[in-house]
Amino acid sequence: MDKIKARFAPSPTGWLHVGGARTALFNYLLAKKTGGTLVLRLEDTDRARHDESAVEKIADDLKWLGIEWDEGVGVGGDAGPYRQSERLDIYTERIETLLAEGKAYCTFETADELDAMRAAQGEHGGFKYPRPDPLPTAEQAEAARVEGKPVVVRFIVPGEAVTIVDDVFGEITVAADEQDDFIIRKADGYPTYHLANVVDDAMMGINFIMRGQEFLGQTWRHAVLREAFGYPTPRYAHLPLIMDMQGRKLSKRDGDVEVHAFRKAGFMPEALVNFIAMLGWNPGTEEERFTLAELVEAFSTDRINKSNAKFDRDKLSAFSTDWIANASDDRR
Ligand code: GLU
Repeated sequence: MDKIKARFAPSPTGWLHVGGARTALFNYLLAKKTGGTLVLRLEDTDRARHDESAVEKIADDLKWLGIEWDEGVGVGGDAGPYRQSERLDIYTERIETLLAEGKAYCTFETADELDAMRAAQGEHGGFKYPRPDPLPTAEQAEAARVEGKPVVVRFIVPGEAVTIVDDVFGEITVAADEQDDFIIRKADGYPTYHLANVVDDAMMGINFIMRGQEFLGQTWRHAVLREAFGYPTPRYAHLPLIMDMQGRKLSKRDGDVEVHAFRKAGFMPEALVNFIAMLGWNPGTEEERFTLAELVEAFSTDRINKSNAKFDRDKLSAFSTDWIANASDDRR
C-alpha cells in the first residue's frame, strides 16, 4: 500500500471522547502501517464551542494512549499552521476565489427570515435553502452588512448527482435534488467546517480520510468543493457508530466516555487502546489481546465493520484485568 498521510482533526471543545480516541487510533495505525504520516490538526473555527484548555487535554490523552503524531500541533511541519483559527487568510482567499468565479454568492437573511422560509417550505424532508434568482449582488451584500444583517457565503452546488466511494460503506450517491447551496462562510467571518476541512486536507496532502460515520452524510459537500478547487480525491473510510448496550448512541448518561476518566480510574493505557481498537474493527482471528505495535501489524481497513460497534463495559473490565495480570507476570 502506498504511504498514507492521515490526520486526526478534533474540534477542541472538551475532553477526548473514546469515539475521538478511536478515530485517532485508527488513523495512527493506518499511517504507521504504511510508513506514512499522521497529522494532528485543530478544527477550532466554531468560536462559540471553543475551549482553549481542551487543546492540551486532547494532546495529553493521545500521548498517554501512545498515539504520537508526526506533524501538526506542537510538532510543526511544512503545511502549517495546524490550527484553523490561524489559517483564516487562506480560507478568505479560497472563498473570494469562488465568489469571483461565480461559484458562490452572499445571502443575508436574519434568523426570523430563515424561520419563515423554513415554515413556507413545510416539514417534509428538511429545509433546502432556495437559491435566489437573481443572486444578490456584491453591492447588496455590502449594504446588508452595513445595516448589520448576518451576511454569509453559500456555495453553488453544480446540480448533478455526487458519488462518494468509501472503503467501509461502499458507494454512496447523493442525488442533485438532495443537495442545497450550503454555507461556506459564516456571518462571523469564519469558514464553516466543510470549507476549512476540504482546503486543509488538500493543502496538507491528506490522501486517506478516516472519521466517524456521523460525517458520512456531509461527504458529498466536500466532494463538490474539491471539484470546484480542482483538488484530488482522497480515499475514505467512515467508522461505525459506537452504541451503548441498550443500542443508543454512546453518551455520558451511561457512565464514563472520556479517556481522561478511564485514566483517572486507573485503567492501563494498553488495555484501553486494545479495547478501543475492537470498536468497529476485528483482527479476523480469535486473538484479542494486542499491543499498539501488534495492532499496527494487524490493522487493515477491510476489517472495519459497517455495523454499529458496542461499547461493552464488562469487556473493558475483562481487558483491564487481563492487562494488569500480564503486566505483573512480566515483572516477575
Ligand atoms: N473537526 C471534526 C470533528 O470534530 C473532524 C471531522 C473530520 O475528521 O473531517 O470531529
